[in-house]
Amino acid sequence: MLEAALAFLFGLLIGSFLNVCIHRIPRDLSVVRPRSHCIACEHPIAWYDNVPVLSYLLLGGRCRYCQARISARYPAVELLTAVYFFLCFWRLGPGIAAIKLSLYGALLIGLTFVDLERRILPDEFTLGGLAAALVLAWFVPVKDGIAEILLWMAGQHWGPEATSLAESVLGAALPGFLLWFGGWLYLKVRHREGLGLGDVKLIAMVGAFLGLHGALLTLIVGSLSGSVIGYAYIRIAHKDPATYELPFGTFLGIAALVVPFISGGVLG
Ligand SMILES: [Zn+2]
Repeated sequence: MLEAALAFLFGLLIGSFLNVCIHRIPRDLSVVRPRSHCIACEHPIAWYDNVPVLSYLLLGGRCRYCQARISARYPAVELLTAVYFFLCFWRLGPGIAAIKLSLYGALLIGLTFVDLERRILPDEFTLGGLAAALVLAWFVPVKDGIAEILLWMAGQHWGPEATSLAESVLGAALPGFLLWFGGWLYLKVRHREGLGLGDVKLIAMVGAFLGLHGALLTLIVGSLSGSVIGYAYIRIAHKDPATYELPFGTFLGIAALVVPFISGGVLG
């Protein structure tokens, strides 16, 4: 429980850094330099005005210098990351498995909000996360059993680490291909882009972390909720369905965040 509480505090800090990434990466700005400053008046933010969640509340959601509104996204991302880290350590106990799932959560929270604000899924997060997941598959087993069965059918006897890596590769490749193929088909039939390559990279990253089951479940939950909520939003907000671009990555991201906690296999 102490570890989970510490993970919560650490999550607040990571969430704070995610906010910097969410703002700067789509604008091709460095995430380390310059120091944090107000987006409106560019005044540097002192450390005591940069405490996650707390500073936002104390300042009433406004810049100390120019009184410009600070987006509620800042405390939301910090709190969400903290809660996610807490849940990872609470459910898995302290260890590398909890660290892996926390990293997964942080990447997805970043992607979900960037896509919502900018309709972009940065490669730094999707491809970077994919690479990290493949490496981590060697140390934290991806318990899927599909690659294991395929290897067995092929008469192969791989060690547990190599088998886990195979589960990770399969989990990335197959759902990634499915989504890419779906997008290609949509383009051929409807003659307009239905989804971007960023969505394909996102689902590949999810599969590399969770394996095939988790990625397919994410795909199903994300697509269904995206269609239902997206359609309702277009109707209620009177958006033009021909031009409104649905943040599909956001729906996939939210589904991917929930899946490890609702599908039994992933948490073991
Ligand atoms: Zn300001």
